[in-house]
Amino acid sequence: MVMKLEMKINKIINFSSVDGPGNRLVVFFQGCNLNCVYCHNPETIDYNQEGEFISVNQLFERIKKAEKYISGVTFSGGECSLQSDAIFEIGEILKKHGIKLMMDTNFTQPSIIYEKLSSCVDAFIVDMKAYNGNIHKALTGSANNQILKNIQSFYDKIYEVRVVVVPGYNDDFEEIQKILRFLYEIDENIFVKLIKFRPYGVRKPYNDIQIPEDHLMESFISLGHEIGLKNIYYK
Ligand code: SF4
Repeated sequence: MVMKLEMKINKIINFSSVDGPGNRLVVFFQGCNLNCVYCHNPETIDYNQEGEFISVNQLFERIKKAEKYISGVTFSGGECSLQSDAIFEIGEILKKHGIKLMMDTNFTQPSIIYEKLSSCVDAFIVDMKAYNGNIHKALTGSANNQILKNIQSFYDKIYEVRVVVVPGYNDDFEEIQKILRFLYEIDENIFVKLIKFRPYGVRKPYNDIQIPEDHLMESFISLGHEIGLKNIYYK
């Protein structure tokens, strides 16, 4: 069978326990349309900076070799949904072979893209950076209207919403409260993971931002419980 599509990736990790449930093979795609101050993989942002092309066939062969050792595959990045045509093509193949697929996405693309991908992607892991548009712009360089809309539209396909708490940006009580209320109003059972900002791999000058204290994170977890979220934790 001849496949036409190829994708540009940064790297493949054969085993990861932090990119979805179980042991997962993770494909990091090259290129992202956001520019988050806390990005741990800044080398994946510029599509032209690094990376290599791999065909759908080649990626499938690589996944097949790892199949018996993994619980599933996660596409991450960069922003994998920017290469949605190739993802759809390999997603359909993985589905046919019973291999579970998750996408770790910033949810910035038009809804129609995630709607199409929903047929072959088992679940989305979503980064919600901020609720307030100005804070989102300061954190990422872009607006968040489409992201919020996609979280509302595809909440039943979301495995987990991740919120990185970044001091000086989104770590005030009011902003976290708005994020948690927004998620609660969508679904009180949605899984919410608050993640402490950490400087590893982060570009200057943002690697000087302090790591949030445990007591601050714990106060946000209590806030989430008060709001009514049933599945909220921090890391
Ligand atoms: S969306 Fe992810 S890959 Fe893109 S800049 Fe933000 S943290 Fe980095």
